[in-house]
Amino acid sequence: MKIWDSHMHSRFSGDSEADPVEMILKAQRIGLPGITFTDHLDWDFQEEPGLFDLDIPKYNEEIHQLMDKYNSQDFNINYGIELGLQTHLANRHHLLLLENNFDYVIGSLHVIDGMDPYYPAYFEGKDPTSAYNHAYECMLENIVAFNEFDSLGHLDYVFRYGPAKELGIDSYDKYKNIVDEILHYIIAHDIALEINTGAFRKGLKEPNPNIQIIKQYKNMGGKLITIGADAHSPEYVGEKFDEMEKLLTDIGFKSYQVFKSRTPIDIPFN
Ligand SMILES: [Zn+2]
Ligand SMILES: [Zn+2]
Repeated sequence: MKIWDSHMHSRFSGDSEADPVEMILKAQRIGLPGITFTDHLDWDFQEEPGLFDLDIPKYNEEIHQLMDKYNSQDFNINYGIELGLQTHLANRHHLLLLENNFDYVIGSLHVIDGMDPYYPAYFEGKDPTSAYNHAYECMLENIVAFNEFDSLGHLDYVFRYGPAKELGIDSYDKYKNIVDEILHYIIAHDIALEINTGAFRKGLKEPNPNIQIIKQYKNMGGKLITIGADAHSPEYVGEKFDEMEKLLTDIGFKSYQVFKSRTPIDIPFN
């Protein structure tokens, strides 16, 4: 079966030049049942101010025009957003969601102490273990400060960067306690865990979060999962989804979720 891609970017995001129509056509070409646009909004992105200030009125208008044009019996488009969490933005995010009718909201940590670990500065002068541990601590602090999102994006994102790949640092082994606290929190608050295949393009051999973490989420009673390729260009839409279906069903998930009007819809794997 083909899986709905619940995480993708277009030229409304500061780091993508993709025409949203091209994303749609690619998804249709490979037979996906639907996609959710989740363009970036990272307010107060200090390293490149304004880069991820999403133009919401324009985004809203254009995506809804595309929905009118392309939605059919076999293919649908949902309107989502990827919110970059920072604790001081909690109230602004709360108001944003009151004022906008997104189908789906991903909460993602891209900025730690004002720095995106995508840039090397975050790791400078820190030993790797504490740099990664600190990222998880910030994630927990952020989701406690603001939990009004539907799915937690790429939980171990920070391991895409820094020395983890080179040194073979696992994103769960040394960090079990803090990762379990994060998982416990999202399960208790009915927040889904996102399975993000963008990790493979960054040279990781497993999705974000890694397989151990996905298994642990299941063991702890987690039931809600969303799946996204985090494509910033059409070629990556739906990337590695066949592998993910096998992985997730092997772990014991019988279905995955797609959010419409902020409500999870259960889609069985079969
Ligand atoms: Zn992200
Ligand atoms: Zn993304």
